Order: sequence, then structure tokens, then C-alpha cells
Amino acid sequence: ESSIDKPSVIAEQDGSQGVDDVGELRLLARERYLKDREKLKLEVLKQELAYQEEDIVSRGWDALSKSEQDEIQLKRELVALVQDREAHGQESGFRLQSDYIDEEGRLDSERKKQLLRRKEVFGVEEKSRQQVWEEQQLKHALQASNDSNEIRVEGSEDYDFVFDEEAMIEFTAGDDESALPETHSELDQKLVEELDREQTRLQIIHDTRKSLPVYKFRNPLLSAIREHQVLIVVGETGSGKTTQLPQYLVEEGFTQGGKFQIACTQPRRVAATSVAARVADEMDVILGKEVGYSIRFDDKTTLDTTILKYMTDGMLLREFMTDPELKKYACIIIDEAHERTLATDVLLGLLKDILPHRKDLKLIISSATMNAAKFADFFYDAPIFNVPGRRFPVDIHYTLQPEANYLNAAVTTIFQIHTTQPAPGDILVFLTGQEEIEAAQQSLEEIAHVLGSKIKPLIIAPIYANLPQEQQSRIFEPTPTDCRKVVLATNIAETSLTIDGIKFVIDPGFVKENSYIPSTGMSQLLTVPCSRASVDQRAGRAGRVGPGKCFRIFTKWSYYHELELLPKPEILRTNLSQVVLLLMSLGVTDLLDFPLLDKPSIPALSKALENLYTLGALNSKGAITRLGRMMCELPCEPEFGKVLHIAATHDSCKGSLEEVITIVAMLHETASVFVQGKADRDQNKSGIIGKVSSDHMLYLETYNNWKDMNYSKSWCFDHKVQFKTLVRVRNIRDQLWRCCDNLGLVAVNDQASKTLGNLENLEPRIIKSFIAGFPSNIAKLGTSGYHTMGARQGGVDVSVHPTSIVFQALRKDMAKPSKFILYQRLVLTSREFMRDCVPIPREEWLNEMVPHFFKSVN
Ligand code: ADP
Ligand code: MG
Repeated sequence: ESSIDKPSVIAEQDGSQGVDDVGELRLLARERYLKDREKLKLEVLKQELAYQEEDIVSRGWDALSKSEQDEIQLKRELVALVQDREAHGQESGFRLQSDYIDEEGRLDSERKKQLLRRKEVFGVEEKSRQQVWEEQQLKHALQASNDSNEIRVEGSEDYDFVFDEEAMIEFTAGDDESALPETHSELDQKLVEELDREQTRLQIIHDTRKSLPVYKFRNPLLSAIREHQVLIVVGETGSGKTTQLPQYLVEEGFTQGGKFQIACTQPRRVAATSVAARVADEMDVILGKEVGYSIRFDDKTTLDTTILKYMTDGMLLREFMTDPELKKYACIIIDEAHERTLATDVLLGLLKDILPHRKDLKLIISSATMNAAKFADFFYDAPIFNVPGRRFPVDIHYTLQPEANYLNAAVTTIFQIHTTQPAPGDILVFLTGQEEIEAAQQSLEEIAHVLGSKIKPLIIAPIYANLPQEQQSRIFEPTPTDCRKVVLATNIAETSLTIDGIKFVIDPGFVKENSYIPSTGMSQLLTVPCSRASVDQRAGRAGRVGPGKCFRIFTKWSYYHELELLPKPEILRTNLSQVVLLLMSLGVTDLLDFPLLDKPSIPALSKALENLYTLGALNSKGAITRLGRMMCELPCEPEFGKVLHIAATHDSCKGSLEEVITIVAMLHETASVFVQGKADRDQNKSGIIGKVSSDHMLYLETYNNWKDMNYSKSWCFDHKVQFKTLVRVRNIRDQLWRCCDNLGLVAVNDQASKTLGNLENLEPRIIKSFIAGFPSNIAKLGTSGYHTMGARQGGVDVSVHPTSIVFQALRKDMAKPSKFILYQRLVLTSREFMRDCVPIPREEWLNEMVPHFFKSVN
């Protein structure tokens, strides 16, 4: 089956929603599967009970041992309970598991204890008869099964029901068609197929757990954790740190029966969601119940049920605001600590602070090999636990001369590998972001199309932060024989995600990094060369299944002479405003004294304080204001917080909160609002292009039109807008709305909005709100084009990005260039471009909204 012909690949390319439906189907199948399996467990239980009841009839109740009686009694209770629930229309199956049976199918400890207590009272019968009986019954119940593991009694003092999944699945799904869902419609048919696939997949998953390197170290790891409050765990990528460690802690009862939670932080959203999904699979639970994730604007956890939570480091940071001692957690795992994100660094500082007060809290810092000693030092010589990994040799190849266009070079290399190297052996390519990945995917598809049947099928699987979740799992799907999978990834595949089956790595050696220059106040995403540590990590990805090859699209000389040894920690190259505000709201007053692995520079800190003062988050004494606290509560950058606050409260803005919230929500998802492809984009926008003059208003119109069409999917399709993105925007919007409501902003805004109404009145208010939040992001038109303002030292020349509607309006002579323009982001490609722009029609607005900042302009 050639995957290039698969409708899913084509569908994705032309922007239809085909792929998503497959993803949805899978989720549906999975949920149904789990429910069915719970029902099966119940069925087995009932059947056993039936046999036992027969036994009672023939032998008489009194002839049974005390323990047998106990057990039957318990089973009766369970069955009655579930039936009772079913009678009340509740979902019985899952409750059964979460209430009484733990993730391995054993009765939960409370029940066990109850039984043990009873046994103590009545005396323990020294018997193996029970065991023999169990096994006999099992054979009846499970017919062809030759594994006697399914229901067993471990020792004489422990009643364990261990349900073996394999046998159980065989038991009904094998021949008994009636146990499967009915296949009336086509959807149902597909669902059943998906169900089959799902069963096989889950079986394989269970088998692999034991083969991971950490498995051998389960017990030593757990004792080290018991013994030390802080443990640093170092191991090769893919050894099972992220997926297994938290499960071990759950299995060992660190959560004390659900009283406490375990948190595992990830620097990346994609990693948090994808790993959570994997672990939910491994633990046989539905994602969002016992195992969940929490990332900004997307919380998939259930109160009082979730015990293991994968989350971004930023989310845990936010939790300090409501729970400064993290009381609900028994263990915190700071994973991928070597990434040294800003949030991780600050978390480590805050944790260092609370550990002495929370003696019972366990902290595990997990990292790839680089940096471990530094973490150990930071936590007063905490022990380092090394998990030896398996790693095969990787041949490194360099280009002979620098390649001007590494994207083309990468694509060529892919086909070189594909046509000369035998399958199996998948290819992993490291690119810097969504745009590059999409470009590479397109040219791969075009070339593959031209070559047609001359080459074996290629499966192209992209992965980057904004890729819709339903499509992310494609990178993990096993490659069919005779095909080759090409994974196009950002550096998320460097250490966060492990993809099995990779034999070839192609590495242009670049990464997109946030870079902030305090003196100009400018923040940029720059494509920069990776560090040596990073490219070595990347090469290592080729040596997991066997010997591999890594093709570096740069020269050997460059490796030794141009690359930095280690990546620069984010704290040394980012805007610190948000973190400084958070720390101040937590009562950290002496920022210089706060424990950090690397201290930010004084200019960076003072710039952050200055920014916060400009926004009104700090007063002239440097203390946090009421507005500052409000900004902390809102789940967005302080600048956006200010925009929202102004839109609701400022005399010349209020009444525009609803529209501003929509725009802010859209700005969080700009990368994937419109279906990619230049022609499409122009076509799509041309409908509105005469009507709106800024990207902000375009986003607003787009969202509102969709809303007016009742959030319709087909409207999106017709207008080349990504439905899934708008759904996410709607969700972000709802959350921002709720927060604003809680903070009282909605009420204030409502009073004003009654008198306003139409959009023409609103537009100036909207623009003014954004000026108030982003005074540093304004450029002024000079003789040689736009130039940024607000920087003490000069500023830089900037141009409107071609994708901006402002650019298109200028090109089509539909508008004269505005003297001032506000941008949301700067990107440096061939030159410095402004993205997401809004022209400022009147100069006075600057001074009106941010007087102390723009004094010098007039
Ligand atoms: P580490 O954290 O030590 O790098 P992980 O726990 O992430 O290792 O991965 C262990 C194994 O689990 C890997 O070999 C990988 O194949 C598998 N795995 C992890 N996440 C997924 C996923 N989302 N889908 C499929 N397999 C996964
Ligand atoms: Mg990991």
C-alpha cells in the first residue's frame, strides 16, 4: 500500500479535513475499546461468580473456606454495584476500574486491606486448593487459554485478581462477533477496523515497556528516590525516563491512593501531550482521566481522578501562584532539564526554596547527559543516577563545502538515501520550524510524484509545535514493509520525543532561537547554528535500533571551529518581563539574590523592570501594582494582559473588550489560521481585503464570520481557513473571557459597550488598546521605509511582511502607507520583517495611550 497515494496525505496538502477525521476516529475507537474492555472484565467477573455460585449449590456455602466465602461475597458486591450503576444509567465499566481495580487489574489496596483484616480475624487457611480451583475456573472461563496467569492468587495472604489483557481480548474479540459493536453504518465498519488495529497496537505497547533500559533499574531507582529528596537522573534519550519513571512512582504508591499527584514537566507542549497520550495507553486508561496533561489553554485532567500529570514547565510555574508550596504533589519530575528553558530554570530556583519546608516532596531532575553536574551542584551535591543506555555506532558524514540552501540539500539527501539504502530504515530530518517543514514536505511530495513507481513509497510525517494533535501520532506509526518514513521535525525530536526505527539523520545544524536585545527591547526568533552538544544529540537519534548514519549539512571545519559547545540557556537570551512579574507576585523582592543556575545580566533585568513600569505593572517604587497582579492572573504575556485591561477600562477604549479578546486569541494561533499556499491565501483574503486595513481586523472579521455561520466546518473549508485552529481559538477565547470576567473586567466593559455597537466605532478603540500594550512594537515611516522606535539606541529598518494584509493593500494601491505601524512580531529572513501589523491612523493616539513613553515623538 503506497502511502503517497493515501488520501490522507493528499487531503492534508489540499487542506481538506481528511486527516483529522482519521484522528478523531482513532480516539473514538480507543475510547470504545477501553470501555468494552472494562465491560469484558466485568463479564469475566460475572462468569466466574456464576461458576462459583454453582459450586456453592453443589457443595453448600458452609463447605467453603472462609477466604472463598469472602471472595465470593466481594465479587457479589462488585457485580451488584455495577449493575446498580448501570440501572441508573451511569457508565459502569470505567468506574469499576478506577474505584476498585488498579491499573494492573488488581483490586485496590483498600479492598485488599479489608480482605486481609477479615482474614486476620478468621485465621488464614493454608491452602493451595483455592489456587487449583482458580486455575480450573479460569480454564473454563477462558476456554482456549493456556496461560494460567489471568486470575491468580499470589501467596496465601494476598488476593490478587490479575486480569491478563491478551487472554481477555482473545476471549471475545476472537470469534465472538456479537461482542463487537454492530456494523450498521460505514462509520461503524471503520470503527471496528480501527478497533482491531488499536488492540494490536496496545498489546505491542505493553510488551515494549519491559524492554526499555530503565526497566532493569526500576528498583535501584526507586530506592534512590526514597533515600534522597532530590535525585538527578541521566540517561540516553529513549531509555524510558519520561514515560516509565512517573509510572513507577504511581505503581509504588507515591500518590497514596490518589491523595497526591505526580507532575512531570516538559519544555514543549507537543512533548507533554504526546507523552501523556502514550502513557495513558500504557496504563490502559483514557487520556484525561488518571493520566492527563496540562498545557496553556488546554487542560486535559480530571479533578480528583488525575494522579499523573504531564505539563509544560510554564504551567507548573503558574501553579506556584495558587499553591506556593505545591501541596498537592508528592513528586515533581523536571524533565528535559538540560534544555534550560526559562521556565525550567525559574522552577528549579523556586523548588530549591520550598524543599526545606516540604520534606516529603520528591524532586527528580531528568536530563540528557549534558549539564548533569551543574544540576547536582545547584542542589547541594544531589546524587546523579545514571541509566546506561544502549547506543549503536553512528557514522557521521559532513558536506565538503558549505551548502547555500540547506533545505534543498536535505531534500536531495533524502532521495539519495532512499534510492541507495535498503529498507527498513527511516529518516529523521531536523528543520527549524513549521514553514521550513511545510516547504520540505511539498517538494518531497512533488519529486516523489514525478518519480512515481520508480521509487518505493515514502511516508512523510511532519512534527512541530503547532501541528494539530490528531496528526502528531503519525510519526510514531510503524512503517509498513517496503516503505520508508521521513520524519520532518523541529528540534523537538532531539531529546523530547523518541521515534523508533530511525536509521538516518539529516542535520542542517540550525535551530530557531528566541533572542532578545535589552538595549533595543527587540525580541526575535532567529535561525542560528546549533551547539555541538545539540548536533551530537541529533546524530545519536540514528543509533537507537542499530548502527546508523548521520548526514550533516555543514562542514567538519565548521563543527570544530564555528559551533558553540553548549546551547545558551534561555534565561540569558530572552525578555524577562513575564518571569520578573511572576516572581514579584510570589513575593521575591530581591531578584539578584534569587537562586538561579545562570544569572541574567543586570541590563536584562533592568530592562524587564522598565518594561513592567511602562505597562503599569510596577509603580515608581518598583512594587507590583493591582494591574500587575491582574496581568499575572491572565494566562498570556503581560503585554496582552495590558491590552485586555485597557480595552475594558480606558475611557477611549472601553466597550471593545469582546473584540480585543478575539484578536488576542487569534494572535496566539496565527501560524495556522489560514490554509497554507500563497494562491489560496490571496484568494481567501480578497473577500475581505477591501474591507479591513490591518491583520488584526482581518483576524477579527474571520473569527466573527465563522461565528455567524454557527462555527461551521464547511465555511472554513470554503474560505481556506483551518477549522481546527479556529476551534482552538474559540477555546482560548473562552478561557480569556472567563478570566476577564473573574477579574471584573467584563462587567466594566459591558457598561460601555451598550452605547457603542458597530465596528467602525470600535476600530479606533481596538487599535488604541494595542498601542497601550505594545508601545515598543511601533515603527515609523521615514525616507527609507519603516524604522523601529522606542529604543534608546537607534532602532532598525523593518518592512511589512508579504503575508500581511497591510502589505497586500499597499501593493494593490488600495492604501497609502501609514506613518506609524504597530507589529506583533519581527522575523528576520532576507531582512527584518514585521508580522501581524496594524497601521496607526493618527499620531496623537501614541501620546494619548502611553504619554511617558512617546513624549519624545512630539
Ligand atoms: P526518554 O525520556 O528516556 O528519552 P521515553 O520515555 O520518552 O524515553 O521513551 C521510551 C520509549 O517509549 C521510546 O523508545 C519510544 O519508542 C516510546 N515512546 C515514547 N513516546 C511515544 C509515543 N508518543 N508513541 C510511541 N512510542 C513512544
Ligand atoms: Mg524524555
